[in-house]
Amino acid sequence: MSRFFSSKYSALEPYVPGEQPSCMSEYVKLNTNESPFPPSKKAMDYALNNTRALNLYSDPDSVELSKAIADTYNVKRNMVLATNGSDEILNFAFMAFTDSSNPALFADITYGFYPVFASLNGSRTEIIPLREDFTIAVDDYIDRKGTVFIANPNAPTGIALPVSEIERLVASNPDRVVVIDEAYVDFGGESAVGLVKKYDNILICQTFSKSRSFAGGRLGYGIGSEALISDLNTVKYSTNPYNINSMTSSMGIGILRDASYTEANCRTIMENREYTVKALEKMGFRVLPSSANFIFVSSDKIEGGEYYRKLKEKRILVRHFQKPRISSWCRVSIGRRDQMEAFLKATEEILKESV
Ligand code: PMP
Repeated sequence: MSRFFSSKYSALEPYVPGEQPSCMSEYVKLNTNESPFPPSKKAMDYALNNTRALNLYSDPDSVELSKAIADTYNVKRNMVLATNGSDEILNFAFMAFTDSSNPALFADITYGFYPVFASLNGSRTEIIPLREDFTIAVDDYIDRKGTVFIANPNAPTGIALPVSEIERLVASNPDRVVVIDEAYVDFGGESAVGLVKKYDNILICQTFSKSRSFAGGRLGYGIGSEALISDLNTVKYSTNPYNINSMTSSMGIGILRDASYTEANCRTIMENREYTVKALEKMGFRVLPSSANFIFVSSDKIEGGEYYRKLKEKRILVRHFQKPRISSWCRVSIGRRDQMEAFLKATEEILKESV
């Protein structure tokens, strides 16, 4: 830390992203929940032909892109805000709807960026433990004051909440905001986006990084009432008005136009997930029920950190979190069938070696 660093950040512990090795071909990369499939070819053709001139600034309102997102969900354009990854809409939500007197409420085991955003923005937090089985108990949030952040499906567990439970939470207190982070919803979860027309206190955050194969393009969005989106726009225009670059914007439109490609890829990932889960259970692993493009696994035969390290030695990258309650678990992204076979083969060998 330099002597110039503001004291307001002295306690800030930055988010630690999963490893991004420079020589990708050396690894089977199952550690950051990206799609193993390339972005839609039709979308790339669309972007090549429709990207706004790059000597001009990008459209600060992302009008065409927001329209395409709004049409996808059958909402008005001013109920949508496109952002630089969904991390940005989440940060905007922490900036807009939490502070030192209105805390952020979230689970003890959830997306690791929430506590960082809270700390960055000087917001108070209240951490609500998941139940013993790693499910979210909505009742634990109902009588508390503050803005709720729930990843649904949750990460790194992959467990999904039904929309009826989210509606019960949103309806229980119209005077607080509930943010539902649906980064992984396309792999078998149930989206709560339909609730935005009925309630003005729910914000849905989604991304192009997972099901839509566009993590490197950095595109996400929020959908909520016009008033919530207007507040988030105030924050955006006070931070980075041109937050979406023109190439990403046209790719986003192209990706939405080729929805059948996204849907087919999601089906393949779900099939590969079921295939992998069955094989792991046969080997004696515990696997939490996942509605995401990753699974959370543990075994009595090997400790989580050791399993991670041994897989890495065999050139398979997964994610291990050295955190209370989950240090014996590893999170494994679901990739192509050949990648999952390589992962399963390596796992079998590791179990044999550790006997
Ligand atoms: N929410 C959750 C739960 C995530 O795991 C991630 C990915 N790290 C994000 C949001 C952010 O993804 P992106 O910024 O790529 O949209």
